[in-house]
Amino acid sequence: MSTRHPAWCAAGHRCGLGEHRAHPHRFDADRMVLTRVQSAGGEQYAEVRIRLPLSGDERVAVGQLARLVQLLRAVGVELRGPERRPIGASTPMARDRAAATTK
Ligand SMILES: [Zn+2]
Repeated sequence: MSTRHPAWCAAGHRCGLGEHRAHPHRFDADRMVLTRVQSAGGEQYAEVRIRLPLSGDERVAVGQLARLVQLLRAVGVELRGPERRPIGASTPMARDRAAATTK
């Protein structure tokens, strides 16, 4: 277990059992929180907590959740990069970026 903290680590009570955590970055009126983390094994990842209002209509709420899963998957594919993306796969964000650069 390493006790050396990365430069971005908040240290103190946020670290434990070899894990390092940055200060959480809160945005969108604290509805979204992003934290950089390094596991005890050395792998770094982003931990994201999102609090989104859902419709009171159950059918609409289920649709909102399904759409959220699609978007979160697209973010995961986008951030993993082309080397880990299935051949021929494109993401909504990649398509948006390509469209923006051709305008
Ligand atoms: Zn630390």
